[in-house]
This record gives sequence, C-alpha cells and structure tokens, in this order.
Amino acid sequence: MKTKLLGKTPDELKQIALEAGLPAFAGKQMAQWLYQKRVRSIDEMTNLSKQGREVLAGKYEVGYQPPVDVQISQDGTKKYLFPVKCRMGADQTEGASREEESCIEAVMIPDQDRKTLCVSSQAGCKMGCKFCMTGRQGFHGNLTAADILNQFFAIEEAGELTNAVFMGMGEPLDNWDEVKRAIEILTADWGLAWSPKRITLSTIGVLPKLKQFLEESKCHLAVSLHNPFPEERAELMPVQKAWSITEVVRLIKQYDFTGQRRVSFEYTVFEGWNDSERHAKELIKLLSHLECRVNLIRFHRIPDFPYGPAGAEKMEAFKNRLNEGGLTATIRASRGEDIFAACGLLAGRHNPGRHNQPEL
Ligand code: SF4
Repeated sequence: MKTKLLGKTPDELKQIALEAGLPAFAGKQMAQWLYQKRVRSIDEMTNLSKQGREVLAGKYEVGYQPPVDVQISQDGTKKYLFPVKCRMGADQTEGASREEESCIEAVMIPDQDRKTLCVSSQAGCKMGCKFCMTGRQGFHGNLTAADILNQFFAIEEAGELTNAVFMGMGEPLDNWDEVKRAIEILTADWGLAWSPKRITLSTIGVLPKLKQFLEESKCHLAVSLHNPFPEERAELMPVQKAWSITEVVRLIKQYDFTGQRRVSFEYTVFEGWNDSERHAKELIKLLSHLECRVNLIRFHRIPDFPYGPAGAEKMEAFKNRLNEGGLTATIRASRGEDIFAACGLLAGRHNPGRHNQPEL
C-alpha cells in the first residue's frame, strides 16, 4: 500500500523529496500543491521534475479519496460518506496490527454566509455513550491526519468552507495526535492558513488529552456535559467514571476564555432525566465564574433508549432558568434532520441533537 502525502509537514515532505532525488526545496513545493492548490495526484505537481514525480508515485500517493455517497437535506445540509481503512492495534491472535475497512461521514452545514464542516476523527468510537448511535457501532480505528484532511478537500464545498467542528464520529481527544496534526496543517501559513478561531473541538472530557489540547492549540472548545451530577452523568456516559465532569470543568477554569478563545457546553435535554430545577441549580453552580455558553439541544429518539426529548416549553423554561442564574444559554436548532432520519446507521454522534452549528 502506498503512503499518503496528505498530512505531512514541509519538513517531512523535504525528506521524502530528497529520498526521491528531488532538491530540498521540493518539500515546500509539495506542501503548496497539497494544501494550497489541493491537487489530487502527484502527476499534477508540475514544477517537480517528471522523473522525480515518477519516483514519488512508486511509493506515495496524495491520499485523495472521493466520497462514495452524498445526501442532501431540505435545509441544504449535506452528508458525505467516505470509505476508510483504519489500522487497528496489535492483533491479539497474530500479534500484528491489522487493517479494517469502515465508513465515516463529514457533514457540511450551510448557514447564511457560513459553511461549517462537521468532521469525523475516528471510525466508530470506544466511549460508549448510551445516547449515541456511533458509540453503539463500536470502535473501528483512528483516522489519520490524511483521512481527516480529505474530508475538507474532497467535498464539493472545499473552497468555500468557513468553519470546522470536530463533532462528527469519534472522540477527537482519543485520537489527539492525528487531530492535532490535521489542525496544525489547517492553521499553518504553509497549510490552509485558517485562524484557529474557525475551528471548534468537541469532547466528552478526556482529561489528560484535554489539558494537551488547551496547551497546544488555540481552537475553541465544546464539552458534552448533559448532566451536572457525576453519578447521574455516569449512567449515560461511561467516561464519567474515568474523568469526572467536575474535574473537567475545574481544568477548564484554569484557562482564559475571556478573550478570543471560547468554551461552550452542550446539554441535550432529556425529559425527566436532566431538566429539573435541581439540575439547573447544579449546572449554574458548576459553571459559575467561567465565561461560557450553554447550548441546549433537542434530543431525537433512538431505538432501545429509555429517555425521550423534553418538550419545547420545558426547554424554554430550562433555558430561562439558566439565564436567570447568570449563564448564557441558547437552544440550538438541529440541522439536516431529514437526511439523518433516512440513515439510521451513521446518525447520532457527540451530541445527540446531531448536527448543531455551535455559535461560539
Ligand atoms: Fe463517542 Fe461522542 Fe458518541 Fe460518546 S457521543 S460514543 S464520545 S461519538
């Protein structure tokens, strides 16, 4: 199998160029072809010598992978499906790593002058949140930075994207090394030169990696909170047993969110589970002295799940209660509901309200 060039830094590309008998500066040229001109084959890198391109093509490929399916919602939301091959860890029987074929999705959400891409970071997920269809599929492997970047490059709106949210399949902080590499390429001058303010990473709170994310990136943060009481949260989110939401919030409070960088908390409102006065009070207490926003999300029923969505009036009352308590809370509109209803397989993700464009 050929190695993908997408996801490589200029330094790494320089090494590859030298090995192929090309001059060192060809590394920079290759980065330009990959990230600025977004070529789909090595042959399109026309300022590299023909012979050099042939040597490169013997061992490498760009890593472009077209979508195999696209579904378009009535509201303009588009869901792209990509095949991926993920390397799983050491195979227990053979002691070697093995490849698994799977499918991941990227969702483009248009909203006035914005086009946001909801990006997947893993095929499936190992976190097992009970409300999430992705969690129910199990884990099929980590995406590489090439797989992540391909979601940006292989869609029809590639040149028009304004924002990205790591809120698709998988827990991005469970694959932080590859997500970090993709973010580096998205934000580097030699890459796509996006401001980190255009990117939001959504997590359920993988504490040690969250610290790294907060230290190593300037992107916005969204945390899937859903219940302020640790023992209740653990009922639907097993991660709570490893890293408590109270620890997660305590860590976040050590960082500055009063300037350009923003933090939001996603709170899906389940009837009778997390929508009481007791929950509102605890949430206000938990998030006190933190500049943040709470996004209330309407739940969409899934099979074999004991809780249903809170009604519109209840959502409004809960929002008002949080606002009275000093929090900035809004009810987020779900997008692309019709295409997710049509495809139960990949519906459901980090926030069971599905694709909500967080206004951070
Ligand atoms: Fe994984 Fe997010 Fe689903 Fe939880 S909600 S199982 S972290 S994809």
